[in-house]
Formats: sequence, C-alpha cells, structure tokens
Amino acid sequence: MLRLTRASKSYPGGVTALDDVSLAVEQGELLAVVGPSGSGKSTLLNIMGTLDLPTRGTVEIAGHDAASLSDRRLSALRGRRLGFVFQQFHLTEGLSAAENVATGLLYAGVPRRRRTPLALGALERVGLGHRVGHLPHELSGGERQRVAIARALVNEPALVLADEPTGALDSAGGRAVLDLLVRLNREGTTIAVITHDGNIAARLPRRVEMRDGRVVGDTGPRRVPAPDGTGSAPEETR
Ligand code: ADP
Repeated sequence: MLRLTRASKSYPGGVTALDDVSLAVEQGELLAVVGPSGSGKSTLLNIMGTLDLPTRGTVEIAGHDAASLSDRRLSALRGRRLGFVFQQFHLTEGLSAAENVATGLLYAGVPRRRRTPLALGALERVGLGHRVGHLPHELSGGERQRVAIARALVNEPALVLADEPTGALDSAGGRAVLDLLVRLNREGTTIAVITHDGNIAARLPRRVEMRDGRVVGDTGPRRVPAPDGTGSAPEETR
C-alpha cells in the first residue's frame, strides 16, 4: 500500500530531517509513528503523504512511484488514495459539518449530487449523524476532529495519515478520537498516526519509533483481528 525505500530528506543548510528510512505499510494496518519533537515525524508524514518528495530514495503509493508522476497526477493520486487528519482539524468556518466533509470529495471527481449522501454516511460512521448541520464553532474540539476524520474517510482512501490527531484535545476528547480510529481500523481502514505521546502509541498494534530522522524501532506489521474473527494475519506471522 505504501513503501518508502531508503528515503532521506535534507534541507539546505545541512539539516537531515529524514535519514535513510525504509518502511512498508500493508493494507489493514494501524500504526503509530512515535518520537520526540524534532525526530522527523512531520517530515516522514509529508513524504508518506506525497506532500513532499524525498531528496534521496523512493516513495511508492499503491505501486506508483511518487517521483515519476506529474504534479497533476500526484494530486489525483493523493485525492483518491490518501486521507489526512491534522492536529488543528482544518475545517472551513461557515461550512456545516456535512459541507466540510463533502469537500473531501472535491478532488476525487465525485459528481456534486453524490457528495452530500456520501458526506452524511461518513458523519454517521464517526457518530455525528445528529450534528450534520452544525458549524465548526458549534461543535466541541473532539466533534470537530471527528468531522475532520469523516472528511478524510469519505472517499474511502487506501491510507489515512493522522498528524497528532489528539494533540489539541482534552483527555476525554482525545480518548474518543483514538477509540474511533481503532474502530475504523477494525472496519478495514489503514491508518498511520503520528504522535509524540507514548501513551497513544502504546494503544496501537504497531509502533515505529523515530530518533534523529532515523527509524530506531519497529514492532512490525500486525493486524488487529476483525471483531468477527475473520481478520487475517500478514504473511510473515501466518
Ligand atoms: P517532528 O515532527 O518529529 O517534530 P520534523 O520532521 O518537524 O520533526 O523536523 C525534523 C528536523 O528537520 C528538525 O531538526 C527540524 O528543525 C528540521 N526541519 C523540518 N522542516 C525543515 C525545513 N523546512 N527547513 C529546515 N529544517 C527543517
């Protein structure tokens, strides 16, 4: 689903934010990328999300080498295959929850008349079926983040990238968001959570640990079994 091979990112002035990172994310995984501030997590997220290209090495999304695509094809790939969740939600004020979620379909070529029912369905999935007409400022922080998660999910992306998704929430809101991510993963969504919080990482089945731009630990792919027991383990543990 996503493969980084010996990816490095250097900035002018000699900072190596990412240093020779190889990482594969398989379908159905829920993983944490954990590490202290400055360890390269955001840089890694930007490269996994094709928002930035590595200065060395490659990133492939669903078999497509990001460096080989034009900007237009790369945006299309991102719009179709990836969903993003940010610490500060990035909802548009003045648009309802449903309208905010529908914006997640703008770049995926979904016709207008299909956007609203899909947005309402995604809000149901995150438990906000009763808040679809609310504006962002009428929602709690945790609810806003759930709207942002619905927007990331609405196009059924291959991979959701969440950057410190609980970082701006109180502990109850944060717990609800984390519970939601765990449930969505059980329902089949592949999710990578970037966090500096070891407690959050500890709740996720796979942990990739970053220090000084390098991966210094990886507990390896491990799928959460589906609630009905049909979830299969990845190749190496079968
Ligand atoms: P984290 O997300 O773990 O806090 P970052 O990926 O933001 O880490 O940063 C990793 C390193 O790269 C840090 O030393 C940071 O200062 C540096 N860095 C990040 N972005 C830039 C940039 N645009 N220009 C120069 N240095 C950068």
